[in-house]
Parts: sequence; C-alpha cells; structure tokens
Amino acid sequence: MNPIEPVPCFVGGDEMPLGASFDKHDPATGRPNARVAEADAALVDAAVTAARAALRGPWGRTTLDQRIAFLEKLAAHMEASLATIVAAEIADTGKPVTVTTGIEIPRAIANLRAFAEIARQAPEETFETPMAGGRARNRVLRHPVGVIGIVAPWNLPLLLLTWKVAPALVCGNAIVVKPSEHSPRTALMLARMAKACGLPDGVLNVVHGHGAGAAGAFLVAHPGVDAVSFTGETRTGEAIMRAAAAGPRPVSLELGGKNPALIFADCDLNAAIAGTARSMFDNCGQVCLTTERVFVQRPIFERFAAGLAAAAKALKPGDPRAPETTLGPAISAVQREKVLGLYATAKAEGAQVLTGGGALEMPAPFADGYWVEPTLWAGLPDTAEICRREVFGPCAHLSVFDDEDEVVARANASEFGLAATVWSTDAARVERVGAELQSGTVWANCWRVRDERAPFGGFKRSGIGREGGARSLDFYSELKTLCVFEPAA
Ligand code: NAD
Repeated sequence: MNPIEPVPCFVGGDEMPLGASFDKHDPATGRPNARVAEADAALVDAAVTAARAALRGPWGRTTLDQRIAFLEKLAAHMEASLATIVAAEIADTGKPVTVTTGIEIPRAIANLRAFAEIARQAPEETFETPMAGGRARNRVLRHPVGVIGIVAPWNLPLLLLTWKVAPALVCGNAIVVKPSEHSPRTALMLARMAKACGLPDGVLNVVHGHGAGAAGAFLVAHPGVDAVSFTGETRTGEAIMRAAAAGPRPVSLELGGKNPALIFADCDLNAAIAGTARSMFDNCGQVCLTTERVFVQRPIFERFAAGLAAAAKALKPGDPRAPETTLGPAISAVQREKVLGLYATAKAEGAQVLTGGGALEMPAPFADGYWVEPTLWAGLPDTAEICRREVFGPCAHLSVFDDEDEVVARANASEFGLAATVWSTDAARVERVGAELQSGTVWANCWRVRDERAPFGGFKRSGIGREGGARSLDFYSELKTLCVFEPAA
C-alpha cells in the first residue's frame, strides 16, 4: 500500500480529482502520510450547489422516520468498520489505540444513535389560546434550515463531526463539512459510508483545506450556506461570526476553554488525583474540556501535587498502535512549538516546574514526532499568562486556596467558561459550588461524562449557543408556529 494516502474532497456523491493539495504529517513520526486536497472557492461553491440541489431531490421529501432509520443504519455500518475508522483516526492524530477504540470512535458512532433517539422522542409542542367563540391551537412544526456549513477541529475529529452531522441530518438539512487540515481522513470516510448506506448524493459533502483565506473561509462566507456550526479556537470563532453576519446567518460556536479543577480537602484524594490526571493528560491535553488550572485546598496541596506528578511520570508515550501507550503526540509541528513556547513563558514568568517542562525525546521511529512532556507548574499568580491563556497541551498550573468563596471567585476570574471540575465528598458543597461556577458544564467527582441529551456549550468567550438534545434539534431546524382557529362546538 502506498504510505502517502490521497485524501480527496467529496462533492455531490463523488470523490473529486485531488488537484491542488498539501502534505499531512503523521504526528507520531513527523513523516508525511497523506496528500490532502486543498479546495478552492470554485470547489466549495460546487459543494454548496450540490447540497442545495440535494434539498430539492428525494432527501427533501424524506420523513423523520426515514432519516432516523438512516442514522441507525449508518451507525451499524460504522460499527462493522470500527478497525478501519480507528486506523484512519490514528494516522491523522497519533492518538493511542486504546483511546480511539475504547472511547472516541464508539462515542462518534453513539452520537448517530443518540440523535436518532432524541429526534424520535422529541414531543410536538402545542398551545391552546382561548378566544371569543372558540380557541386557537398553536402547533410548533420543524423545517430544515437548508444548507449547513460545518467547520470542525482536529482534536476529536470524528466525534465532534458526528455531534453536528447527526442532528443536522435528522432535521433534514444538507451539509458541507470542512474538517481540520490536520485530521481529514475520517470526515471523508464518513461521507463514503453515508453514501454506501444510501444517503442521496449531495446531502453530505466534504471540502478539505486550510481555514483562513482558504476552504474554511470560502465556506462560511458562501451566501448559499444557511447556518454555520463551528468548533474551534475563540479567535477563529470571531472570524466566523463576522462572516456569518452577512445575511445574517445563525451560528453555533463551541470555542476554547481554560478549565479549572477545584480540589477540596474533603475529597477522595486518590480519586481526585486519578480523575484530574485524566482530565489533564487524555489526548495529550488536546481536549477543549482539559483541566489547565488546578486549585488545591491548603491541607492536601503537597500530597495532591506529589500524586499528580507521579501520574504524569507514569504516562507511557510511544507507538499509538501499541496497547500499552497512554500518551500520544501533539497534532502538528506548529502546535508543538506553540505548547513549548508557552512552557518557556511559564519558566520566564518564574513558575516552579514540578515535572516536565520541555520537549519529549523519543527513540526512532518517533524521534521526529511532535512529542511534548506532561508538565505541572506551581507558584504563579492567577494573573500569569500561563494561568490565563489556553495552552491545549498536557499541562496545568497548581495553586493553593483556603476557602470556598475564594476558590469560586478565582475559578470564575477567567474570560472562558467551558468546563469545571469539583472534587469533594460534601454533597451540599458540591451543590453550592456547582451553582456558582460560571461554566457550561460542571463535573463533580467525575470528568468528561457526556450525555448527548444534556445541553453543551460555554459561558463567556467559550462559545455562543448550546448544542445537545433538543437544543441541537432547535439549531438545525427552522421552527414554525401553525396557529389554527377552532370555533367552539
Ligand atoms: P482552529 O480554530 O484553529 O480550527 C478549527 C477549524 O476552523 C479548522 O477546520 C480550521 O481550518 C478552520 N478555520 C481556521 N480559521 C478559519 C477561518 N478564518 N474561517 C473559517 N474556518 C477557519 O481550532 P483547532 O486548533 O482545530 O482546535 C482547537 C481549539 O478548538 C481549541 O481552542 C479548543 O478549545 C477548541 N475546541 C472547542 C470545543 C468545544 O466544544 N467548545 C471542542 C473541541 C475543541
């Protein structure tokens, strides 16, 4: 097999000739392993046109039950192809096989089934308004929005894609996806599998390429796109919102975080150490929900910090395909340089390095991969850059707190508000603190437990809008009120 795999765009049910393209590198080795299409404005236009045409075809006449059945069929098809999907995701990201096989790809597939079920269960809202001589019956009906532009990040490529594709499809829309330039394979695979399961041509299109000034920007600026759903960095979200202002078109923005963990002295210490380590180091810290600020109550600070440092040292970087590997690389050379630059900033700011702090030297064949050391710092004020800015790497800063009001205020003193974690065995405290934290999700004594029915999104600069459950159905639907006068009998 050719080790350099071509990754073409998928438009109107067909794979397009590669045309202009760029090298994509294996993050674990640093070697090129794919040649990815770079869609120009004309190809993005063709994808939007194909999506529009699909809405006028058989897809536009499908019933909700047919769309639910399609998602279930696609989920079964993907499950049967799990090993192939896992191999593609690893080739793009270098994630350990235990994570891709055990968590991320199953969750990506679970999104399809979850939104099929959410749509099946969604009640039709009706309201009766008393009137002279009778009543008015108001029924809330759903229509597809039209063509949805989905712009996706690289950190959880397929999982975050199906999180948006599943509700958009079940609501009857057509889609143009722009996956991250760093993780193009599984989006193409999803489109191929959807076609194999009978999705009409043009309903799901994939355009590859870069973001600013390229395929991503062409897509969100295209006047034929009726709504934009984006997950990625906050600054990119600003650019996307500006582009969507023309129209204007609705946007859903799932953006960055600088997530706090609050570790109270009354916690189950071992569970808190293990849970916080996972929340920092899973996916090499490249999860929007990653903990990067850890506040530890004074009596347990030394023991907690020592336990967390030991967990960091116990991580096993290595071949992503080996079952013993627990730490993968950063996604790209640029991301590695960004993380190492912020590691240098922490040192320059005077941080005490508890463990790590630099690049990770790896043996061949991984010596040129994008590896960074799991890192813990202490001793900086909350105003330090490393305590305010999202790193998106396997690192966090630990600081001491004394009381509940203090730690809640410090946790909330951030421009972000995506996720927070509380570790305490005091149920009343968990309720109080959970209510006060300015965060789209608060986990108590757990982390990254996701129920697709629950709303998901961020306070402040972590996003606009909520997805999940009925909120996703609302974003991907035009809601219409049909109000009919019924005379009294
Ligand atoms: P990114 O913003 O750099 O890129 C995301 C996508 O946007 C890519 O497909 C990229 O090509 C595209 N893009 C970039 N500039 C664009 C532009 N001007 N117009 C249109 N498209 C453009 O983000 P990333 O580095 O891929 O992902 C990491 C970020 O995503 C982190 O900040 C992380 O916190 C965030 N994230 C948030 C969530 C959430 O649910 N809130 C989930 C995952 C990741």
